[in-house]
Amino acid sequence: MEFRKLQDLELTNKKVLVRLDLNVPIKKGKITDDTRITSALPTLRYILERTSKIALMSHLGRPDGEVMPEYSLEPVGVRLAELLGVEVVFVRDYTEEPAEQVLNQLNKNQIILFENLRFHAGETKNDPDFARTLANGFDCYVNDAFGTLHRAHASVVAAAELFPGEKRAAGLLVDREISVLSGLQKKPQAPFTVIMGGSKVSDKIGVVLNLLNHANYLLIGGAMAYTFLKYQGVDVGDSRVETDKMDLVASIYRNAEARKVEIILPEDHVAAAKFDADAEAVEIPGRTIQRGLMGLDIGPRTIKRYTDIIGLSKTVLWNGPMGVFEFDKFAKGSLRVADAMARCSGFTVIGGGDSVAAANKAGIAEKIDHISTGGGASLEFLEGQILPGVKVLLK
Ligand code: AMP
Repeated sequence: MEFRKLQDLELTNKKVLVRLDLNVPIKKGKITDDTRITSALPTLRYILERTSKIALMSHLGRPDGEVMPEYSLEPVGVRLAELLGVEVVFVRDYTEEPAEQVLNQLNKNQIILFENLRFHAGETKNDPDFARTLANGFDCYVNDAFGTLHRAHASVVAAAELFPGEKRAAGLLVDREISVLSGLQKKPQAPFTVIMGGSKVSDKIGVVLNLLNHANYLLIGGAMAYTFLKYQGVDVGDSRVETDKMDLVASIYRNAEARKVEIILPEDHVAAAKFDADAEAVEIPGRTIQRGLMGLDIGPRTIKRYTDIIGLSKTVLWNGPMGVFEFDKFAKGSLRVADAMARCSGFTVIGGGDSVAAANKAGIAEKIDHISTGGGASLEFLEGQILPGVKVLLK
């Protein structure tokens, strides 16, 4: 997959429109985690070394086409200004005051940040008129918002298409995401272990089937594991089972057998009588879970087996927690898997969403080779799909 990169663009003194993912958590006007802002800095610094005429755009939350002050990007502008050492000119209504006019009035130490794209219904509708409003007056387009590349939204697709092919490119973050995630689908070093957890088989089936082409081991945890165990005829008590998804599990087994991939399921569990943080944790030493109990985490023997396999692997991808890691009593499986990934000498990737939260909870995130910034986008990418936001950047 050959897409245009930042380095392919001639940026000197050009006017550049940049799509970022600045969708940070904000509580009472204060940013509680600025990771997404700091992740955008390498691309912004690269562009700023070549031109000062840039406008940044992002969504924040889901205001669904309405102006909602709690979703304003203004606090993000303040933080960006601190981090970049430039003045951020916040443009609230770019539909009335075209960015082109504002750009022409800027001095060298000023850049533009548009207000939340999703205050306008045209954004999620990929509306061509809204896209024109955004793109008017710019010479180049850069997308560094990996987490939104699976969405055909105006700032991701229609706006990009208004620029000639050689004037659009992926930012550094998107570049890294695509090269890591496509590497896993091409020639990962063996043994390649895929660890899948989380709530639903149906959410992960596409990824599992695609990765079976190269994987050696598929370790299953989370609620997903109970659907697999049930398929194997094991009684799993009151655990969460997707009874209507047995055909998906069957197709995973068929494909795994054809490709000689070993599927490994939990051998023991930590269960509870109710889905509650304060529920008593009951250790279940075997596969079978009795009625009245539901499996909420993998047990100690399973942890040992999974972490041993991770330790021997040259490539590991993890997506989805091993249990209800939000409840401390049922977090051990996910935390131990995170630790094992941190110790693994092979190439380690965490595929976004809740497993990233588990890695943060374990305090090992910086020891992982790549943590994907986009949950939905990384899953769709790993399914082998060409994301709409990538398609418009292809050479
Ligand atoms: P996902 O978004 O599909 O990765 O699923 C993550 C969610 O799955 C988390 O909120 C977990 O609490 C939940 N989960 C993991 N294991 C279990 C389990 N055994 N039973 C119920 N929910 C679970």
